[in-house]
Amino acid sequence: MVGSGQMGGGIAQVCATASFETITHDLFLTRDNPKLGLGAIRARLQRQVDQGRLAAADLDRAMANLSDTTDLADLAGCDLIIEAVVERLDDKAAIFRTLDGQCGPQTIFASNTSSISITELAAQTKRPDRVLGLHFFNPPPVMKLIEMVRGLTTSDETFATCRSLAERLGKTPIVSQDRAGFIVNYLLMPFLLDAIRAYENGLATKEDIDAGMVYGCNHPMGPLTLADFVGLDTCYYIAQVLFEEFKEPRYAPPPLLKRMVLAGRLGRKSGKGFYDY
Ligand code: NAD
Repeated sequence: MVGSGQMGGGIAQVCATASFETITHDLFLTRDNPKLGLGAIRARLQRQVDQGRLAAADLDRAMANLSDTTDLADLAGCDLIIEAVVERLDDKAAIFRTLDGQCGPQTIFASNTSSISITELAAQTKRPDRVLGLHFFNPPPVMKLIEMVRGLTTSDETFATCRSLAERLGKTPIVSQDRAGFIVNYLLMPFLLDAIRAYENGLATKEDIDAGMVYGCNHPMGPLTLADFVGLDTCYYIAQVLFEEFKEPRYAPPPLLKRMVLAGRLGRKSGKGFYDY
């Protein structure tokens, strides 16, 4: 895994629990940052043990499959590298270029991107046939879906290998062409952005907007709560990519969203977004 935040940490946990030897990398990994890396994974697994949902021996087995590093070169021997860093093309492209120089020809590169073009990431490398999108959902240990994204250059063999991996991870794969937002965010993001615009325009309180969708449409959480959960920076970057691709106003990031990101109100992960955590 490259990137050990909300998604990378969760995906590493899923892989290690399914018996894959897994190395997690993050630029900001430090022993005293409890939100990143192995400490966070152990704490999540320990909660499952405490609740009787996981055997202590399975926790030990999963942790034995895991190691972490701040040096990208430590991933050079991996068969598959899944990237889950910040949703910005430049950051992801730089990582793909670096890894391409470090890894052997057999290594498959996947991105957990929510919106960025897989074909464009593949074009950063000399192995465009071995690059694809593997889009997990939040939180990865709980959510069943993996959106598999086929770039223009992704080979059938790469796709087949990763489809069987998705199944071994206990996930349900669906397949999308390489278009911004793929299937789920193409449909979900306009809804979240409309909710933010409704709040910004004074339609109703944030609580009532959320309650409307929870009690009126049976959604498990309201759209402003969900945006906080996804991360407002991530929502903002996804909206930018969608707007850039389709040029439709419904994808344009609302001014309030931009201001909240500039103010460091990133939602649940920063302790403050539409709500306080
Ligand atoms: P996050 O902010 O929780 O984590 C990103 C991590 O990447 C951070 O730990 C950061 O330190 C690390 N990082 C940033 N630049 C790096 C670099 N150059 N090298 C190594 N590590 C770096 O974000 P997240 O929610 O985990 O999202 C990560 C990716 O997953 C994004 O592409 C996002 O679109 C996608 N995604 C997010 C969700 C969601 O609901 N949050 C769902 C599916 C996919």
